[in-house]
Amino acid sequence: MVKNCANPKCAKPLHYLREGRIFVFDAESDSGKPIHRMEHYWLCGECSKTMRLEKTGQGVRTVLKASLSVHKTVGAISQPLAS
Ligand SMILES: [Zn+2]
Repeated sequence: MVKNCANPKCAKPLHYLREGRIFVFDAESDSGKPIHRMEHYWLCGECSKTMRLEKTGQGVRTVLKASLSVHKTVGAISQPLAS
């Protein structure tokens, strides 16, 4: 079970589940085959304000929420066509 914040730079011990956010991912075996098990990760209250978790081929990593919203804003701007 989860014992610490999933942010390695924080690693705050988990005492109260009502604080922060739990993330659930499908677990994979070493051979990459899906196995019927769920992995739980927790971000503490402070970390979950600015980050979320993302599952990658190498495991789970933290992603800054702020950088995501910046990308969305940039993508929404359309360039006027030069005549
Ligand atoms: Zn944390």
